[in-house]
Amino acid sequence: MAFVNQPKQHTYDLVLVGSSFASGFFLYEYLKTAPENASILVLERGNRNPHQWQLENQKNSDIDWFNTYIHEGLSHKDWMFTIGFGGSSNCWTGCCPRQLENDFRMKSKYGVGRDWPISYADLEPFYAEVENFMGMSGTDEWSMTPRSTKYPLPPHRLTDPEAALMDHYKGFYYPQSTARPSRTFKNRPRCCASGICRLCPIDSVFTIQNSMMDIFEDPRVDVITGAHVDRLETNNNVVTGAVYKKDGKEITVKGELFGLGANGIFNPYIMQKSGFEHEFLGRRIHEQVSTWAGFDLKGMKNYQGSTIITGQGFMWYDGDHRKEYGACMTEFNNKIRKLRVEKDRWNERMYIQFVVEDLPLDENRVIYDPKLDKPIVSFTKFSDYGMRGLEKVFDYADELAGVLPVERIFFDEKFEKKRIPRSTEAHIQGSVVMGDDPTTSVVDGNLVHHTHRNLLVLGSSSFPTGAPANPTLTLSALSVRAAYKLRT
Ligand SMILES: Cc1cc2nc3c(=O)[nH]c(=O)nc-3n(C[C@H](O)[C@H](O)[C@H](O)COP(=O)(O)OP(=O)(O)OC[C@H]3O[C@@H](n4cnc5c(N)ncnc54)[C@H](O)[C@@H]3O)c2cc1C
Repeated sequence: MAFVNQPKQHTYDLVLVGSSFASGFFLYEYLKTAPENASILVLERGNRNPHQWQLENQKNSDIDWFNTYIHEGLSHKDWMFTIGFGGSSNCWTGCCPRQLENDFRMKSKYGVGRDWPISYADLEPFYAEVENFMGMSGTDEWSMTPRSTKYPLPPHRLTDPEAALMDHYKGFYYPQSTARPSRTFKNRPRCCASGICRLCPIDSVFTIQNSMMDIFEDPRVDVITGAHVDRLETNNNVVTGAVYKKDGKEITVKGELFGLGANGIFNPYIMQKSGFEHEFLGRRIHEQVSTWAGFDLKGMKNYQGSTIITGQGFMWYDGDHRKEYGACMTEFNNKIRKLRVEKDRWNERMYIQFVVEDLPLDENRVIYDPKLDKPIVSFTKFSDYGMRGLEKVFDYADELAGVLPVERIFFDEKFEKKRIPRSTEAHIQGSVVMGDDPTTSVVDGNLVHHTHRNLLVLGSSSFPTGAPANPTLTLSALSVRAAYKLRT
């Protein structure tokens, strides 16, 4: 049925909130075995702004994300996302590394954070499924974790400095796994490497709008945009309905099964507003801490790569140091920033981003205040563990300068002088934590709410800890697994 203005029926088999990766990949798996007469409703707060609209208007949405929550705590900490059909798939960069095996068992392996209720092996087939569907570019040389499949597309071309890094850090430096195709994949052209990725000029990166419309336009699915879900209705530990606002009216729709895919700010907010109570609901919101360093090179040219983030380094990622300080992953930025001014040396410069895991803190949280019409995101501090990990960037940069012909290193001044990390990695994690123990977690390892068993809370809000790896591949794989687990 696809896009409709109002519900076509009184009760749906499945009601999903949000229309981005978390809901999209759940729907993808759910529809595989749903009967012909199944009925699914997707409620999306934002409007559908097609790619052409986004290019013409030079923005991803007609709703300003920064006005949708109240910022409290650290003034330099932001959260970033897109409100609209397809969510942040409209603006994301597409970096898609898998998490490593130890990312799922931080407590038992390193004595910090929490273990996930599932292992890498549990998620591996679903990683493979999502990579194939998204048309991921990556290398078959990858040896950081076991893989059951090859990447559907070959890796992107690295820059010259990275070729040297790959040679030096054998087995720890790889071309980026990315949802930006290295050659044409279905309807999506090869990445143009122009670096203007939030508004991909050629619609190359995977988005819900360019790759999942078959799923959202399936005859069993109704999608209502401009439908701002306010709360869920419950009765005796069963979710019975979703209440949303559209065009000034409040509408209730009934359902058998519900999935929240509204991201790590709005999932806990909707739940709190619906009367859900749990010590950890809304708490532990976190993401990676990061900063960057620039390197002026001597006689080595840069920027030959074929996409925006060309390579990822795992040389400071896993190991016993994680007992003391956060793991670090490097991202090599092939997007041209400030060029050098010296004649014929404009491209003898490179920028590397250092992305460090931060341990979730209970005090950082999403708060529902009945007097306000939006969530408060109160983020008071990064963990000492994360900040100790970020402090290592000075050593890491020195080490790189021993590997490559570097004549000058320079850092982000905010970090160098005041230890202020980048304001956001745009990864919202941890506010509806998953776990086996209902007293310390809100959902189980299949993302089903511990007491309201017909409610799934999808997305990276469930992450017990936040590895350096970007979260979207993992959260998408979790969604596929959650739908699969419903029927097995
Ligand atoms: C600029 C940018 C770059 C990024 N780059 C990367 C990257 O390279 N790699 C990576 O792994 N991740 C990246 N991310 C993060 C990635 O986009 C998110 O992890 C991912 O989009 C989360 O998917 P989601 O479905 O959980 O939530 P979202 O994409 O945030 O979607 C949530 C959806 O719910 C809707 N919604 C919210 N509230 C309501 C409500 N009350 N009622 C109805 N609908 C509602 C929203 O409109 C939206 O459609 C990036 C993010 C940004 C902003």
